[in-house]
Amino acid sequence: MKKFLAILLAMTMLIGLVGCSNAKQTQGDKATTTAIKDGKYKGEGKGKGGAISVEVTIENDTITDIKVLNQKETPGYETAMNTLTKNIISTNSVDVDIVSGCTLTSKGFLEAVNAALTAAGAKADMLKKLQASGTTGTKKEVNENHDIVIIGAGGAGLSAAIEAKKAGADVIVLEKMPMAGGNTLISGAEYAAPNNWIQKKEGIKDSTDQFMKDILKGGDNKNNPELVKVVAENALAGAEWLRDEVGVIWEDQMMFFGGHSVKRSLIPLGANGKEIIRKQVAKAESLNIPILYNTTAKALFTDTKGKVVGVQAEGEDKNYTFNTKKAVIIASGGFGSNIEMRVKYDPKMDKNVLSTNTVGSTGDGIVMAEKIGAALEGMEYIQTYPICDPLTGTLLYFGDARMYGHTIMVNKEGKRFVEELERRDVISMAIKEQTGHVAYQILDQKGLEESNLEEHHGPEIDYLYKNKLLVKADTLEEAAKFFDINAKELKGSVDRYNGYVKAGKDLEFNKRSMPSTIEKGPFYILKAAPAVHHTMGGIKINTKAQAINKDGKVIEGLYAAGEVTGGIHGTNRLGSNALADITVFGRIAGQNAAK
Ligand code: ADP
Repeated sequence: MKKFLAILLAMTMLIGLVGCSNAKQTQGDKATTTAIKDGKYKGEGKGKGGAISVEVTIENDTITDIKVLNQKETPGYETAMNTLTKNIISTNSVDVDIVSGCTLTSKGFLEAVNAALTAAGAKADMLKKLQASGTTGTKKEVNENHDIVIIGAGGAGLSAAIEAKKAGADVIVLEKMPMAGGNTLISGAEYAAPNNWIQKKEGIKDSTDQFMKDILKGGDNKNNPELVKVVAENALAGAEWLRDEVGVIWEDQMMFFGGHSVKRSLIPLGANGKEIIRKQVAKAESLNIPILYNTTAKALFTDTKGKVVGVQAEGEDKNYTFNTKKAVIIASGGFGSNIEMRVKYDPKMDKNVLSTNTVGSTGDGIVMAEKIGAALEGMEYIQTYPICDPLTGTLLYFGDARMYGHTIMVNKEGKRFVEELERRDVISMAIKEQTGHVAYQILDQKGLEESNLEEHHGPEIDYLYKNKLLVKADTLEEAAKFFDINAKELKGSVDRYNGYVKAGKDLEFNKRSMPSTIEKGPFYILKAAPAVHHTMGGIKINTKAQAINKDGKVIEGLYAAGEVTGGIHGTNRLGSNALADITVFGRIAGQNAAK
């Protein structure tokens, strides 16, 4: 990274502005000469969501302020820019490390700051040398007592925290990243809730029993049926709790996710995890629940009877020992970003398979729990998500068109090869079999509009065009040409599909929802590939979210909830079931731990 910055700076210096002025500055009665002219300078860089523009204030050869003027980064990633700002100002240097987990945002931000320096006619060595303040020396040892410590501020951890605090417990949340949200934040965050209010309005018949059957079938019956029952029976209450207690806004429509027998998935405002996490963090703040960011839980402590009585954690400048009176709740998410761990449990999931996960998803909670004797379940079941960026592995929301039913998928030969509403693992594996291990998703203007793609995911669409992963064209032939897809076959596939839509039956793949034909241009084609998305395995729990040891006994003082647990989704999690799982079991863990 440092090298990247050095090169970047060298380049900006080459393009360089001549005439770095020797401005005179008055300090007390003594006139000093500064290398850089005092002032405010603007610069722009390219982040993940598009342009990031900043205004850098320079006074006395020192960067005193950086204001972000414009950015469209993933919600929550502002924290990364804040961290970089803090580090740049405290060291008066742009040679700072990127924030892990926010690589593209960090690079874009640093590029913008460097561009501002160029605009100021500044070279790196013109900035005054400062020592980073407060970061040197040994870390302070801190010892604290709490009723409950929660590891991880994703959807499960925050649900647990809110419930535990409301039940009267003194709670603290540890989060290793500089922001809350984990995989929940970057997910679509749709939520499967049988018998929900929109289903009633639309006259869709559903039942918790049917939901349970779908989860079990989707997981090839390798699930723990007792846990599945808990999710099925409490999913609707969890969605209502998010709506009524936490303030989450659900849109007035649903999505039909693969593997579900009916349309039952609620959509949060904006169709991503931002709405859920923002509201949960706001709720936690209103309840005065401290969330310690940049603080990584490292180990669990047990007493002589094996009860969990605390957590050891590392912060930026402190080492913590947290003693717990009631419990530790592990909600640290899955291990999709830990390649070594993935390969240990499924050798196919090696470094060549990209991942949709945040870098925080490294299975820490699973490793910590296993060290004190917890049993693990279903570790070999690792799910890939079919529609991801073939360049980075990032989950593509553009793929939502599939769940609205408005798209078909073809290969380079222009042929459909799988039911577009099949399970994620089935579609992913089918894509891996195709030429170039990629799929092309086809839709027309009506499909684009009815899937709310431009409204919800504009910056992603800009990114896709720029990176040649999406094309818009007046005719299918033209669009096919862009990706070198067999246009004649594609036309045939689309014509046949339109016939099936009109007849009400898909004779080739039996697609379960076909709300519209793909007929009127402009047409869109997205290129996508599968990436590791969800790790189904994890800590074995009971219906109270208590961790279980290798003898099948409860580990006192230890609860787990969310992606860090195993057994709920069997071999394969159906889309929109994670939100139901993490909310239901997060709440249960919080309520029980507080008892
Ligand atoms: P879930 O969906 O189960 O809530 P998420 O991935 O949304 O899972 O959230 C898990 C959170 O836990 C992430 O924000 C991640 O950064 C955090 N985390 C992971 N390991 C640790 C750890 N060792 N200490 C503190 N936080 C952690």
